[in-house]
Amino acid sequence: MLVSAKDMLNKARDGKYAVGQFNINNLEWTKAILLTAQECNSPVILGVSEGAGKYMCGFNTVVAMTKGMIDTLGITVPVALHLDHGTYEGAKACINAGFSSIMFDGSHLPFEENFAKTTALVNTCEVLGLSLEAEVGAIGGEEDGVVGMGECADPDECKKIADLGVTMLAAGIGNIHGKYPENWPGLSFETLEKIKAKVGDMPLVLHGGTGIPDDQIKKAISLGVAKINVNTECQLVFQEATRKYIEEGKDRIGKGFDPRKLLAPGFEAIKAKVKEKMELFGSVGKA
Ligand SMILES: [Zn+2]
Repeated sequence: MLVSAKDMLNKARDGKYAVGQFNINNLEWTKAILLTAQECNSPVILGVSEGAGKYMCGFNTVVAMTKGMIDTLGITVPVALHLDHGTYEGAKACINAGFSSIMFDGSHLPFEENFAKTTALVNTCEVLGLSLEAEVGAIGGEEDGVVGMGECADPDECKKIADLGVTMLAAGIGNIHGKYPENWPGLSFETLEKIKAKVGDMPLVLHGGTGIPDDQIKKAISLGVAKINVNTECQLVFQEATRKYIEEGKDRIGKGFDPRKLLAPGFEAIKAKVKEKMELFGSVGKA
């Protein structure tokens, strides 16, 4: 069964740990993350971007696949199926398809429009028992080949959006999607503390978890971050493991060409990475 992310994040906030959101791209990704969560007895959030949803043949397919796996694999830990960086239209489509958690990212819109659209979704999600993540202050990253240094959200705008009654809030604190540039100055804990002081109990979300040093991750958790998104890192270990298998010529030995064998090292690499992150975030044994 899919659950809202609300309870797991409130527990994480109270217990001073974070729940990982791991983005999925296909069957192997989803299976690897679900099995690892179960083995670690950890709650988990499966993130689906609109692009990944399209790739996986639509949100209905994603819901059916995830529910089928939870059932067949005997997954009993809490699992939230979450739209990542959704548009307003994408959010509605995921609600209709049966997602249990939604992120509406209106951070690139004028603040008033972000506020109005988030308000509308708060009401819908509340009626349906879904969790809703909002975003204030765009989270940087590589766009059109230009890597930004990471923006910081306005704490007053954070409070306005938090007060609408969203479940969790993503706010830029100098974090970036994708790989971090060499000269990245690090997370702005000053901004995080100011936001936390304004939004009170609201669980905060840290995007762009790939490449943030472990000590900064731990400090962010101690300051109110209860959800951390990991995407690029799983892609990188999958790529490395798959490359190694082929470079070692294993795909040419016996039935090494069998996709179930060819994709196995990448699958195992994702499992190991997810376990490592769950240990770092402190969510192991917290299901
Ligand atoms: Zn993000």
